Amino acid sequence: MQRRTTKIVATLGPASSDPALLEQMIRAGVNVVRLNFSHGTAQDHIDRARMVREAAARAGHEVAIMADLQGPKIRVGKFAEGKVFLEPGQTFVMDASRTELGDSSCVGLDYKALPREVKPGDVLLLNDGLIVIVVDEVRGEAIHTTVKLGGELSNNKGINKQGGGLSAPALTGKDMDDIRTAMSFKADYVAVSFPKSATDMEMARQLCNVAAEDGHQPGLIAKIERAEAIPKLEEILLASDGIMVARGDLAVEVGNALVPGLQKRMIKLALEHDRVVITATQMMESMITNPVPTRAEVSDVANAVLDGTDAVMLSAETAAGKYPLETVIEMAKICLAAEAGRQLKFEADFVGIKFTRIDQTIAMGALFTAHHLGAKAIVALTESGSSALWMSRHLIRVPIYALTSKIASQRKMTLYRNVRPLLIDTSTDRDTALAQAASDLKKRGIVQSGDVYVITCGEPMGSSGGANLLKICRVG
Ligand code: PGA
Ligand code: MN
Repeated sequence: MQRRTTKIVATLGPASSDPALLEQMIRAGVNVVRLNFSHGTAQDHIDRARMVREAAARAGHEVAIMADLQGPKIRVGKFAEGKVFLEPGQTFVMDASRTELGDSSCVGLDYKALPREVKPGDVLLLNDGLIVIVVDEVRGEAIHTTVKLGGELSNNKGINKQGGGLSAPALTGKDMDDIRTAMSFKADYVAVSFPKSATDMEMARQLCNVAAEDGHQPGLIAKIERAEAIPKLEEILLASDGIMVARGDLAVEVGNALVPGLQKRMIKLALEHDRVVITATQMMESMITNPVPTRAEVSDVANAVLDGTDAVMLSAETAAGKYPLETVIEMAKICLAAEAGRQLKFEADFVGIKFTRIDQTIAMGALFTAHHLGAKAIVALTESGSSALWMSRHLIRVPIYALTSKIASQRKMTLYRNVRPLLIDTSTDRDTALAQAASDLKKRGIVQSGDVYVITCGEPMGSSGGANLLKICRVG
């Protein structure tokens, strides 16, 4: 049977916080659980992280936990009635100095600097672009606007400026507290919202390192969702372990029509630079309320797979939808079918590429060997997971099994496309470790008598990033 290689990130929320359901979702294919720090208290996240670890243990599949920071999302205040209806053509004021609750003519702002960052003619998008207003004038702390596209506006909905350009720093005070919370339960990934530069990512990494105990190092994911991040894509990517194509806010800032092209560019760039990439937002949106996806959603997920994404992400579908388990099952099916249709262009991947590092050359040698020999598996004995990361950047039909003795590495690798990370108890003796790996593979039914597989490892064993050995084995 073919094995799914694209990973699934599912957001935890009220709809999926039942331990038995979460276990079923993990069994059905969830590889990474996202905790959305835009909602809930620190204690909620601590409790949920424990629930995830326990459910994963029961399911017998390790999963990674991704702490997704809220970032400087700019929002309207609250309304006396909880929501209002804005009519096209009416005027609407957003007043940073307003302390009382809002109504259909005026509302407060939680981002007090907004009046200084907009000017007449600016187009502001509320509630993910469902409502469009145009700035007429700014008087003191009050932004006077005219509604172009009306609709229902409820408490704390987000505000974006078309074309970008709002200067709120990427890490808020709340984000800094949330990083400490995330490090207290050793989150495997931290996703940074609205980064504008490499510096934002470097700052987040430093904050994680200061807060982490026992040298825990989470992977840092840059959510690409600001217009300003696009020209700086490469520097942001290089300062991160991966990126998220955060299509919700990104589409509002750059316009819907540009997002599919940007998605392709981002995935390609991430793969070329040995970074991971997650494609996110509205992938199975209609399954929030329906038991089956639309044809367009099926195509969207399949296309992200064809683009080469490591993972596809579910947000409200699993956090607040009616069919969290069914959504994961459907998504896994779509991924599997799309993978079968991917064109191999293995040789073309390497044209003009030079290797300078020994460990990276071993990893690429293993890919080449396994591909041409029709090996059943590539087995990477890896401490940090870097061998598995390098290998997984290239499309190949041979599954990569990453054997590590470090639980943190195992969890981190759950996000890498085509990598199945397994925890083994390595001794520092190479022959013992290899024999153990071989019997492990046979026991799990990954290889059978007569099958060829390829192993990479480093000597001396147990040191990080030092793969220098490639071995071709036939199962006895
Ligand atoms: P969010 O990020 O769901 O945290 O807003 C994803 C996006 O904007 O697409
Ligand atoms: Mn967003």
